[in-house]
Amino acid sequence: MKKYLIIGSGFSGAVIAEQLSKDPNNKIVVIDERDHIGGNCYTERDKDSNVMIHKYGPHIFNTDNKEVWDYIQQFCEMVPFVNRVKSIYNGQVFSLPINLHTINQFFGKTFNPEEAKVFIDSIADKSINEPRNFEEQAMKFIGKDLYNAFFYGYTKKQWGCEPTELPASILKRLPVRFNYNDNYYANPFQGIPKDGYTAIFENLLAAKNIEVRLNTKFDSSWDLTEYEHVFYSGPIDAFFDYKYGRLSYRTVTFEKHSAEGDYQGNPVINYADPEVPYTRVHEHKHFTPWEEHEKTVYFKEFSKETEEQDVPYYPKRLKEDMEIFEKYENEANTLSNISFVGRLATYRYMDMHHVIAEALNVVKKNK
Ligand code: UDP
Repeated sequence: MKKYLIIGSGFSGAVIAEQLSKDPNNKIVVIDERDHIGGNCYTERDKDSNVMIHKYGPHIFNTDNKEVWDYIQQFCEMVPFVNRVKSIYNGQVFSLPINLHTINQFFGKTFNPEEAKVFIDSIADKSINEPRNFEEQAMKFIGKDLYNAFFYGYTKKQWGCEPTELPASILKRLPVRFNYNDNYYANPFQGIPKDGYTAIFENLLAAKNIEVRLNTKFDSSWDLTEYEHVFYSGPIDAFFDYKYGRLSYRTVTFEKHSAEGDYQGNPVINYADPEVPYTRVHEHKHFTPWEEHEKTVYFKEFSKETEEQDVPYYPKRLKEDMEIFEKYENEANTLSNISFVGRLATYRYMDMHHVIAEALNVVKKNK
């Protein structure tokens, strides 16, 4: 019998556990410090309204990876879902990601695609060849006015620093479109699991040779020698007792509100004005349009720097972080029986589908 330890029951840990469980000679122990499985993807029904709540913020599954899309659907029924996000700026509602509607509304024009391209090209900053940061990336592609309206204030609120300090890669996540397509994601496969995300984790972890221990926090005093291999998905700096210093993460907090009927008529509305203290409002019943609910629940989302007790969400990856991270990564690479997986342990801005793809690969390598 081979014994494996998996630290964390988010997508990294749960997928690795599921893959290893196929061999009946394997015994897999999955631990999680929380009182539930699923990490930040956890969903539960609100007791009062029965609306499915994304407790740690909205999760819309989207991927261009057919293998991941086919894989996940073994564990849930995905209902096709297109995320159409709005942004409120200066007293008006605009469409995101920036598309022809946004451009025409913002500049008071009726451009067709070609005219809009020529116009944006005329206001974009062509002096920037290789954007070195978030701000330069935005200036190069959409110019100062759209950047100031939709990105500067929002990004400062979300990340708590100047966009010039952030990597250009963060903005590359969002497309700019010269048509009226307002699908927030560009990936071909998009959906929301019919029964919520927690049910996926229950299915991933259902095998008899998987033991899940909740409320169990890993620390460096654990004896790992009895395990064939260990998969760690917690923060990499915590694994090494912060010996090279703390990495910076942003965290988000939510203010929960309940009401009758429909609060905002859309799943997600972003607030670009810097004076509004929250970044966005998500109204959860709009993530399950196939269900009917008289009541509604919405969360106002606030962003702040992570303190010790907070859940880390977004790796900031500032220059000083990357210097520290390199030291942890080098040390992690010397530990051949431990794999570091997922957003927190690899200190990367990964989506669910990236995490699943990585988990499937890491098992292939360490079986
Ligand atoms: N962003 C912005 N304004 C918006 C939406 C996004 O400035 O209305 C920026 C923000 O810095 C964010 C990045 O674009 O971190 C990527 O957005 P995405 O929606 O992918 O972020 P996530 O879903 O991870 O919160």
